[in-house]
Amino acid sequence: MEDLAHQRCFNHMLREAVARCPECRRYFCRECVTEHEDKVLCAACLDNKINADASRRSRFSRYAQVAHLLLGAMSLWLFFYYLGQILLSLPSSFHEGTLWEMGWWKP
Ligand SMILES: [Zn+2]
Ligand SMILES: [Zn+2]
Repeated sequence: MEDLAHQRCFNHMLREAVARCPECRRYFCRECVTEHEDKVLCAACLDNKINADASRRSRFSRYAQVAHLLLGAMSLWLFFYYLGQILLSLPSSFHEGTLWEMGWWKP
């Protein structure tokens, strides 16, 4: 393992490095690193990560949109399916007279 004390910040040649960025493996001073999701990253890598996260999120939202659309179509299908089932089950209850006890339709 390299000795951190003898490393200098990548951005500030005069400052001692306190951390090493796990992404670009360069050394940075306290000012140049930021904690991000339990990892200490340099500003450049943090920017990259945020951009990557953002693009992943937008890609995910596109997937979510498609999933939402499919879900909508599926619930519509289920709705008509159950509507069909109800319509199919109607005649028996119709003949049993349990659903239509009003009697207004009788001759
Ligand atoms: Zn970095
Ligand atoms: Zn620095």
